[in-house]
Amino acid sequence: MTERYDAIVVGVGGMGSAALYHLARRGKRVLGLERFDVPHELGSSHGYTRIIRLAYFEHSDYVPLARRAYELWRELQTEAGEQLLHITGIVEGGTRIYDGVLRSCADHDLAHEALDGREVGRRFPAYRLPPELPVVFQPDGGFVLPERCIVSHVSGALAHGATVRARERVLEWEDTGNGVRVRTDRTIFEADRLVLTAGAWSQSVARLPPGMVRGVRQALAWLQPSRPELFTPERMPVFNLELDDVHFYGFPAFVVPGLKLGRYDLSGDSGDPDAIAREPTLEDELPLRAFAERYFPDGAGPTLALKTCLFEPSPDEHFLIDVHPDAPSAVVGAGFSGHGFKFCSVVGEILADLALDGETRHDIRFLRLSRFHDELA
Ligand SMILES: Cc1cc2nc3c(=O)[nH]c(=O)nc-3n(C[C@H](O)[C@H](O)[C@H](O)COP(=O)(O)OP(=O)(O)OC[C@H]3O[C@@H](n4cnc5c(N)ncnc54)[C@H](O)[C@@H]3O)c2cc1C
Repeated sequence: MTERYDAIVVGVGGMGSAALYHLARRGKRVLGLERFDVPHELGSSHGYTRIIRLAYFEHSDYVPLARRAYELWRELQTEAGEQLLHITGIVEGGTRIYDGVLRSCADHDLAHEALDGREVGRRFPAYRLPPELPVVFQPDGGFVLPERCIVSHVSGALAHGATVRARERVLEWEDTGNGVRVRTDRTIFEADRLVLTAGAWSQSVARLPPGMVRGVRQALAWLQPSRPELFTPERMPVFNLELDDVHFYGFPAFVVPGLKLGRYDLSGDSGDPDAIAREPTLEDELPLRAFAERYFPDGAGPTLALKTCLFEPSPDEHFLIDVHPDAPSAVVGAGFSGHGFKFCSVVGEILADLALDGETRHDIRFLRLSRFHDELA
C-alpha cells in the first residue's frame, strides 16, 4: 500500500530541512526526500559559512524576515546544543551597497556606523581598503554554518517524528485533487501537501513557468594568511564590497584556516545544474586572489581550498515563495538568488504556514510568484 503523509518536502537542503523541521514541530507526519546526501556539496548550501546580516541593501522588506531568522537560529542552536550563529559585524561598501544599507538602516532603525576605509583598517587590520572609501559597519552581521544548520534542522525534525529518505530522487508529482502523488526512483508516496524546495533544480522539479530559476556556477577560495592572528572571527568582520563594479564577499578563517572569498557573479556557466562542471579550476581562483592581494594583502598566501557552488537566481534576484500557481496542494520555496541561506530558518516557518494554512503572518508580498504576472498568465 502507498505510504501517505500530511506533507512531503522535496529537497532536504537549506530550505527543505527547515520546512521539514517546522512541519514536524507542529505535529505533522512529514517525509523529506533528497536525491543526494544530507548534507552534500552539489547544491547551494555547502562551504562551512554563510553571511547573515540585518541591514539589507537588496530590499528593505527583508529586514523583518532577517530579524525573525536570527531569533529562530538562536532557538535552533539552543535546541541543537551547538553554536550555529557567529556574530562578527559586517563591513559593506561600494555605491549601490552603501546606499542600500543606509536606506535599510534608516527604514528599520538599525544600529550602524558610517566609516571610511582608513578607519576600517585601524579597527580591523586584515582590511586594506582605499582610505576614502565610504563603508557601513553593522554590528549584527556575522555568519551561520550551512552544513550544521541543515543537520540541526534534520535532527530536530527526526526527533519530532519526521522521516527522511536520502539518495532518493523525485521524478514526478501530481496534484490529485485531494492531495499529491509523488513518484521517486524507488517508489510512490502520497500526501495532503507538497513543499517544493529543490534549489537550483527548481525550474524543472517544481515545474515553474519558464525562466523562473536557473543554476549558476560560483567559485569560492580559501587563502592562507601570512598573519593568521588578523583573520580570526574575533578580529575580522565579514564583508560585502562592490569595488570596480565587482561584488566580492568574504569571511574570517573558520574550519579551513584561511581567508574565504567569493564573487557574486551571474555570468558563469548556467542552466541545468546536472550539466554544470563542479571541479574548480585555476581560472576560478585568479579574480579572488587578485582581490585579496589588493585589499587583504596579509591574507593572500598559498591556496588552501577551492570549491564550486550553485547560485539559483530568479529573474529579479528576489525569492519565490508562494502556493504553486497550478497546484493548490503544493507550495514553492525557490530562487534564493545567492543570498538565501541566512533566511532558511524563517523560510521554513513560512513554508510550513503556507502548506498547512495557505497563508502566513510574515509579509512576503514582495516575494510572491504572482509578481511575475505576465509570465504566469
Ligand atoms: C557560493 C555561494 C555563496 C553564498 N553565500 C551566501 C551568503 O553568504 N549568505 C546567504 O544568506 N546566502 C548565500 N548563498 C545562497 C544560499 O546558500 C542559497 O540561497 C541557499 O543555500 C539555497 O537553499 P535551497 O534549499 O534553495 O537549495 P539547496 O540547499 O541546494 O537544496 C535543494 C535540495 O534539493 C535537492 N533536490 C533537487 N532536485 C531533487 C529531486 N528531484 N529529488 C530530491 N531532491 C532534490 C538537492 O539535492 C538539494 O539538496 C550562497 C550561495 C552560494 C552558492
